[in-house]
Amino acid sequence: MSRQETLSGWGRWPERDCTVAAFDPEKDKPVRYPHATITRGAGRSYGDAAMNPDMTFLGELRNRFLDFDENSGELVVQGGVTLAEILEAFVPRGWFLPVTPGTKFATVAGVVAVDAHGKNHHGAGSFGDQVNWFDLLCADGQVRRCSPQQEIDLYNSTIGGMGLTGHILAVSMKLHPIETAWITQKTLPAKNLEEAMQIFEENQQATYSVAWLDCLAKGDARGRSLVLLGEHATVNELPAEQRDKPFDYPVPKPKSMPMDAPNWALNRFSLKAFNHLYYRKGTKAPPKELVDYDRYFYPLDAIHQWNRLYGKRGFSQYQCALPLETAKEALLEQLDAISKAGLGSFLAVLKRLGPGAPERPLSFPIEGYTLALDFPLSSQALTLMDLLDEITIAHGGRLYLAKDSRMTQATMEACYGDRLTQFRALRRATGAHAAFQSLQSKRLNL
Ligand SMILES: Cc1cc2nc3c(=O)[nH]c(=O)nc-3n(C[C@H](O)[C@H](O)[C@H](O)COP(=O)(O)OP(=O)(O)OC[C@H]3O[C@@H](n4cnc5c(N)ncnc54)[C@H](O)[C@@H]3O)c2cc1C
Repeated sequence: MSRQETLSGWGRWPERDCTVAAFDPEKDKPVRYPHATITRGAGRSYGDAAMNPDMTFLGELRNRFLDFDENSGELVVQGGVTLAEILEAFVPRGWFLPVTPGTKFATVAGVVAVDAHGKNHHGAGSFGDQVNWFDLLCADGQVRRCSPQQEIDLYNSTIGGMGLTGHILAVSMKLHPIETAWITQKTLPAKNLEEAMQIFEENQQATYSVAWLDCLAKGDARGRSLVLLGEHATVNELPAEQRDKPFDYPVPKPKSMPMDAPNWALNRFSLKAFNHLYYRKGTKAPPKELVDYDRYFYPLDAIHQWNRLYGKRGFSQYQCALPLETAKEALLEQLDAISKAGLGSFLAVLKRLGPGAPERPLSFPIEGYTLALDFPLSSQALTLMDLLDEITIAHGGRLYLAKDSRMTQATMEACYGDRLTQFRALRRATGAHAAFQSLQSKRLNL
């Protein structure tokens, strides 16, 4: 049964009235529809990637665990299973996600479709690298098993392919063995961007690394950061009284943003104060401490609907990847542009990316650095992001489709070049172009 719903991505902009229906692979063969459709996971992508006014299929009912091999850690799930459901079921059994984005509320099909990266990209690659195979319902109504050995083009184009090659029905992935639910976290303050990058480079052997960056600091302090390194703690690293229950931790009581914050709540002054206090607090953190995996990986998930913090107008997340050789120069130019525009981001996150996957045409990571910034929506913010695009492109970087709600087709083409041509060709050859479209794919002519 279909119904009308007003949908948006996590950034709450743009919003659009869409016809939606629970997805049923038996019934909802693409050939049944006179128009293109798109599948939606948990709606954690920020923009319009999981929205099609004609028909947006909701994958939420496809949430069954199908198989698990205790010896190899191979897990098979339907595409609508969330990362939170996997963690809840498998952490107590000693298994963890091999790669995770900063929210556990995304679905497995969603993280495959965006080829999500985690804080361990420099060592483990992206989520696509953890996938053994998946079953894809294609434009011709056939289900194809795709893996590095079979249906190779479809496999590569679907990972990072934003739902535009077919419906991902089931995914086989690898889980990672762990001894405890805890992470040994090291907090390393960096006085500026140069120092932060040096810390990343010197700590390539760390399993996880991420920096919270104060994008409002100026002068010699431009890009000052707290770099957080993490390792899965072993049982022996836990306090003696915790060693017999290594997977227990005080599960945080979820809090909610009760309403939209007023538009004036986040302004240059409150952002500056927050960034300043956050950095100060971090410089006083113990250099090494045990934190549970929820606090380390998913600090934002602790507040449900935190996206209401930006008020009704919504916000846009700007995320670019920059090659190693040009990253420092590009990041400094971007920080200057942000400062000059008088805008700031509540959260600015910097990560070191390892080698990308050139065989996957729309996969985002390239070896270098990625910066993610949130901007409350305004005409100045949109103008600033256009300028950030120019800097990204001039330095050989690219933007992340999972966060995008506003880039132009020309920017997309400048970022992805021949890879985009290759992706478009596969879509036309398989009939996917006529069968699968989102507002984003139409805007960018994907
Ligand atoms: C707080 C927060 C932190 C984040 N941190 C990170 C991070 O660290 N690293 C990172 O890489 N990303 C990050 N993200 C982005 C996030 O990983 C992606 O937006 C998410 O994976 C999308 O999953 P979803 O289930 O919400 O999919 P949706 O947002 O609903 O859809 C995203 C795309 O997947 C497609 N899709 C969904 N289901 C299917 C299906 N069954 N078959 C085919 N296509 C499908 C959709 O068509 C759409 O194109 C973050 C997002 C948030 C909100």
